[in-house]
Amino acid sequence: MNCIFCKIIAGDIPSSKIYEDDELIAFNDIRPIAPVHFLIVPKQHIESLVDCDAGQQALLGKMLLLAPELARQQGLNGFRTMINTGREGGQEVFHLHVHVFGGGQTLPKT
Ligand code: AMP
Ligand code: ZN
Repeated sequence: MNCIFCKIIAGDIPSSKIYEDDELIAFNDIRPIAPVHFLIVPKQHIESLVDCDAGQQALLGKMLLLAPELARQQGLNGFRTMINTGREGGQEVFHLHVHVFGGGQTLPKT
């Protein structure tokens, strides 16, 4: 499969990994938009949030609960989460992921 995040999960291309368990991986974004910017990614290839249903409820909850844990480990006192969904939603990599970013200064209101 020609999916860059699946290749990272398989270890075929390198990443700056900060967390891994049997279901999830987290690594630093290659083009950070804040001093700390990482991605929480399920190992299962799910294209985006619109492809999820109740079957992914526990997985999605686990992804969100991992955000504050890793943010704290990365030294963030506050952070922003973002899930881009679909091309019109700004999604570029079609493998579900949660962006977590912050650090340095207070983020502007969106
Ligand atoms: P999105 O627009 O939500 O699909 O964001 C995809 C994100 O993946 C972007 O912020 C990219 O900088 C990031 N990205 C793309 N390729 C890699 C990579 N090989 N390692 C880490 N992050 C990546
Ligand atoms: Zn994938």
